[in-house]
Amino acid sequence: MSGQKVAIVTGAARGIGAGVAERLAQDGLAVAVLDLDADACADTVAAITGAGGRAIAVGADVSNEDSVAAAVTKIAEELGPPVVLINNAGIIRDNMLFKMTVDDWDAVMAVHLRGAFLMSRACQKYMVDAGWGRIVNLSSTSALGNRGQANYSAAKAGMQGFTKTLAFELGKFGITANAIAPGFIETEMTQATAARMGVDFEEFKKFSANEIPVKRVGAPADIAHTASFFASEGAGFVSGQVIYVAGGPKD
Ligand code: NAP
Repeated sequence: MSGQKVAIVTGAARGIGAGVAERLAQDGLAVAVLDLDADACADTVAAITGAGGRAIAVGADVSNEDSVAAAVTKIAEELGPPVVLINNAGIIRDNMLFKMTVDDWDAVMAVHLRGAFLMSRACQKYMVDAGWGRIVNLSSTSALGNRGQANYSAAKAGMQGFTKTLAFELGKFGITANAIAPGFIETEMTQATAARMGVDFEEFKKFSANEIPVKRVGAPADIAHTASFFASEGAGFVSGQVIYVAGGPKD
């Protein structure tokens, strides 16, 4: 594909999404920094534009069909047709099964699964028209099962099946779909997990690092590097894959 490519990164106000957005901008893409609140995207946009890149802030709820449609149309008009999509927006509503509410279950499914579905469906037509596209979905090591995360682990396993199906359906249009399954990445999400468990975050990181083969916890840049690879021109023959980025086979 010629010309500047346009990427959308969801949940990019902070954490992993912000890291991925900044990395894709460094790679030369124009980036739509999408999150629930457009104002919250200001820092990520400023980091990109301050470094000479091109980015806009977009407020949207990925779990809402109308919101997604409006956001993707706005991005196509203001930046250009989106051909790279990083489905990163996510929430946790952890609880043991016997205490998990229907709302906890539905909220997690809505953001991760319905969100990735709605965003991918809205963007695929631009990718098909371009004859080129890259979809990267954020799974998790929790897809393999994690105590207190029946909702989240089911959603993250679902992301893997969703990814593989997109790879089958969209491959003939020059579009790849892959998933990244991070282990422990230092963000507000893992801070919230520590708070829920009633442990100090620094202690939590130290304990976790000791369990990880490479003896450290991850950073958003670790995930951004893998997303950059999947989004690259040269990764066109890599599709339907799940890469665990966890400092070992599992965190
Ligand atoms: P984070 O710091 O909590 O950031 C997630 C972002 O998504 C927040 O800015 C959040 O906005 C946004 N978001 C939530 N619901 C949304 C919605 N409906 N529409 C649009 N944006 C929404 O999380 P993170 O740690 O960077 O995680 C990013 C992704 O990686 C998630 O899919 C997560 O499940 C996955 N992951 C993370 C880890 C880890 O260790 N951190 C490990 C494995 C997988 P608000 O702030 O307004 O809620």
